[in-house]
Amino acid sequence: MQLKDKVAIITGSASGIGKEIAIEYAREGAKVAIADLSLAAAQATADEIVKSGGQAMAVAMDVTDEVAVDAGTAAVVERFGGLDVLISNAGIQIIAPIVDFTYADWKKLSAIHTDGAFLTTRAAMRAMIRQGRGGAIIYMGSVHSHLASPLKSAYVTAKHGLLGLARTVAKEGAKDGIRANVICPGFVRTPLVDKQIPEQAQALGISEADVIKNVMLKDTVDGEFTTVQDVARCAVFLAAFNTTALTGQSITVSHGWHMQ
Ligand code: NAD
Repeated sequence: MQLKDKVAIITGSASGIGKEIAIEYAREGAKVAIADLSLAAAQATADEIVKSGGQAMAVAMDVTDEVAVDAGTAAVVERFGGLDVLISNAGIQIIAPIVDFTYADWKKLSAIHTDGAFLTTRAAMRAMIRQGRGGAIIYMGSVHSHLASPLKSAYVTAKHGLLGLARTVAKEGAKDGIRANVICPGFVRTPLVDKQIPEQAQALGISEADVIKNVMLKDTVDGEFTTVQDVARCAVFLAAFNTTALTGQSITVSHGWHMQ
């Protein structure tokens, strides 16, 4: 068990990548807090984990709400006796050409990815510094932290921004043993991507099969989707690696779509 008794808050973990990380962390012995918009959805994931013998709690947390983030983090620290890992994972996708992108959509996406990452980081760092046993902060970036694609201006901007935040946290957090890294997955079949396939097909005037083959997986080494398990294993590795030798980095898990 690589994460025995570590306490982890995982945002956006009622679904997709975050949910798989929570399951994998619990299997590795961590106490996991499922933080998501809907308490019922978070509770369902927490119940699933507890039923399979893990330790989990649900927290209603909109990552753009300062009060909810601070209160949710405090509730986890209180219930599980501290905080060792934050996975800032909650996210959405909105696709449109820049000339048609509404300012409201731009602000909505930026708030969840960028403001959410800041607010959860601040709450986690305060808790980690107070308890004095270091910690790991992991951001869910994307291949789009390094590359751009058409129609994804807000997402690409926000995901690039997470690299800057992680590097700053790495520098400010080092003296307290806090490490910060970014995982950059390629396309993973989750509700976020399933929604994009028909949207991109329509926006680009091509079939859904062509979106998968010629847009999403075109530059991978083997035409394969990355899986939630691939990303979760990487998240275990980063949390379990307990020295500041590995901080301020990004790791791309994408079947070779992007090679750093
Ligand atoms: P998903 O839609 O399955 O899950 C996203 C979760 O975030 C949902 O449970 C949703 O309720 C939650 N969420 C949304 N807004 C929130 C808010 N304001 N506060 C709290 N929770 C909120 O999507 P996913 O594919 O699992 O995406 C998770 C992360 O991985 C995102 O940051 C996404 O950008 C990133 N990512 C996904 C892929 C992919 O191909 N799926 C690739 C690279 C990066």
